[in-house]
Amino acid sequence: MTAARPRLLVVSATTGYQFRSFRTAADRLGVDLVFATDRCHQLDDPWRDGAVPIRFHDEEVAVRAIVASAAAVPLDGVVAVGDRPATIAALAAEALGLPGHPVCAVRDATHKLRSRVRLRDAGLAVPEFRALPVAADEAALLDGARFPCVVKPMALAASRGVMRADTPRQLAAAAARLRRLLETPSVRAQRDSANEAILIETFVPGREVALEGVLTDGALRTFAIFDKPDPLDGPFFEETIYVTPDTLPPGPRGDLIAEVERAVHALGLAHGPVHAEARIDGDRIVVLEVAPRPIGGRCARVLRFDPAAGRDGAGDWTSLEEVLVRHALGESVDGWRVNRGSSAVMMIPVPGAGICRGVTGLDAARAVPGVDEVAITVKPGERLVPWPEGSSYPGFIFARGKDRAAVMEAVRTAHRHLRFDIATELPVGPDGRR
Ligand code: ADP
Repeated sequence: MTAARPRLLVVSATTGYQFRSFRTAADRLGVDLVFATDRCHQLDDPWRDGAVPIRFHDEEVAVRAIVASAAAVPLDGVVAVGDRPATIAALAAEALGLPGHPVCAVRDATHKLRSRVRLRDAGLAVPEFRALPVAADEAALLDGARFPCVVKPMALAASRGVMRADTPRQLAAAAARLRRLLETPSVRAQRDSANEAILIETFVPGREVALEGVLTDGALRTFAIFDKPDPLDGPFFEETIYVTPDTLPPGPRGDLIAEVERAVHALGLAHGPVHAEARIDGDRIVVLEVAPRPIGGRCARVLRFDPAAGRDGAGDWTSLEEVLVRHALGESVDGWRVNRGSSAVMMIPVPGAGICRGVTGLDAARAVPGVDEVAITVKPGERLVPWPEGSSYPGFIFARGKDRAAVMEAVRTAHRHLRFDIATELPVGPDGRR
């Protein structure tokens, strides 16, 4: 008789790359995956049969569907890919008695105002902030405004809708622009009442870093800290390069980890992946956000773990997704180390608004020493929407090597080879629709 294979629920907003990475990891480990997603109609893969169709905005029904599926074949763990799936994953874990982040912690962590309140009340450094209804008039917007400031939505992700304003006029324009974005069909379709208000907070200067880790019963294990070498000073905040290892001296590095730990505990996150963003301004560390999920999409590929001891023929490294599958099924992650050496990913900037007709220069970009992948994810015919209305990069460039400076230079050089052919369109509306 063979022992039953473990079964892991993956709640995912997309059927994209990270979703497939979890599948690969699970296959390798002899784990069965069950997907819960609101994109079932878009599944273009052979796993369609196993997916639980849900709607993220209808949490009760979604959790009932997951519990019903688990009643037929029990689940052993849960992971979430993306911010909205994190809430469903937490609800499902709670309903099934499986380890995971507490529901209220995930709700707070994925709501920018609630997050600020929690961190402030726990004594962490936070920017000054205030919430206003989306429809607030100019007088209300400017009342007590301090500059520079950042205007942002409460619950969108990937810096979508986040804008810096240096003057009252810019603040009024940014708030109007955010209002238009929040009124677009694609945002309204989320049916999230958080989108009825906006947040205005003081701009925090300084160097930005990201921390990738996992919590086990409240204890943080840091896998990597990423430097973001390009200044993120606005007016919009799309990411560019992540590079690891960071160059923080041991003291400040320890302070950063300690501050992220305090933030994690203030939010009540307890078990599962976390991805934190922080700014370091002299001695002041400001945790801007702790997301209750792993680093997004393809970027996880920038992290390679040393291979599992005793694993045969499975390549010379292990993916973040594999480590997370193991963790979700109760394995200790203490022994996992990120590969030595430097690694960088460039999230390719959106080169302009319009329909992408194609990309040239790929061969030259891929031939740059140190570059190990250039992935163009925008498809011909797809619309490119720059930030702040947009939220997807047209592709990603990865480089690895011994030296941080070299891997950063490699991704920048590869990027210079790429040419996107874009058919410009008539002016588009706030979410890229005319
Ligand atoms: P999201 O969850 O959509 O990524 P964040 O609130 O984390 O939104 O903001 C995205 C980015 O915008 C941050 O990584 C940072 O670069 C910038 N940002 C946000 N708030 C501030 C702030 N108060 N001061 C300075 N930069 C900020």
